[in-house]
Amino acid sequence: MPALQRLFVAVAGDSGLSKQAFSFSSPAGRCETCKGTGRSEVAMDVLADLVVPCPACSGARYRPEVLAVRWQGHTVADVLAMSVVALGELLGKAEGASEGKSAVGKLLGGIDTMVRVGLGHLGLGRRRSDMSGGESQRLTLAASLLDAPTPTLYLFDEPATGLHEHDLARLVAVFQGMAKRGDLVIAAEHRTSLVRAADWVIDLGPGGGPSGGRLVAMGPPAELRDGVTAASLRGGALPE
Ligand SMILES: [Zn+2]
Repeated sequence: MPALQRLFVAVAGDSGLSKQAFSFSSPAGRCETCKGTGRSEVAMDVLADLVVPCPACSGARYRPEVLAVRWQGHTVADVLAMSVVALGELLGKAEGASEGKSAVGKLLGGIDTMVRVGLGHLGLGRRRSDMSGGESQRLTLAASLLDAPTPTLYLFDEPATGLHEHDLARLVAVFQGMAKRGDLVIAAEHRTSLVRAADWVIDLGPGGGPSGGRLVAMGPPAELRDGVTAASLRGGALPE
C-alpha cells in the first residue's frame, strides 16, 4: 500500500522513518518477534496448533517506534485494521489538510474502487488467506481496474459469493462499465441478478455435478425459455 506508506512518512516528518518502515512485510518497520504477521503459534500435542496474538506487538505487526507515529490520532496498524469505508470517511475529512496531500488523493481513489466491487467492509491489512473466494477475486478485480490494459478477458468463478443485493448491484455496474470499455467478462454464477444483467447466458445442467454438464439453453437472458435458469429469471431465485 505505497500511498498509505507515503502518508505516514509525511506525518513522521524528521523522525528518520522511511517508507519501508510502514510496511509490515519489510524488516525496516515490522515487529521482529512475529516478522510482521502479528501472530504467534503455540504448538499443541494433540490438538491443532493454537494461533495467538504476538506477545511483543500484541498483534499490531510493527515496532514501537513505528506505532508512535499517528495520523489523525491513528497508528498505521489502526488504519490497516479499519474498514476501507471508515478509512475513506477519515481521509475525506483530512482531504483539505496539507499533510500527505497527494497520498490522500491516491488512497481515496483506491478505496472508491474497493467499495465499487463490494469490498467496503474489508481492512487494508486483511490477509488474502483470511478472505473468502469471492473477496479475493474482487480484490484482484479492484487492483486490475486501477491499472490493467483494455481490452482484457476476465474469468470469474462465483464472484458474487457473500455479497448482499445492494453490493451485488454495484458489482454488476462495474462489470457493465468494463464491458463498455471493451473488456470481456465471463462468470460462472448462480445469483439471478447477475445472470439477468448478462448480455449472454450459457445455461449448463440440468442438475449439478454428475447430473449436469449439458447445454440446457443459451442466449440473452430475456429470451431464455427452457430450464431452471429461465424459470428463475422470470421470478424466484436459482437453486444453489
Ligand atoms: Zn509481533
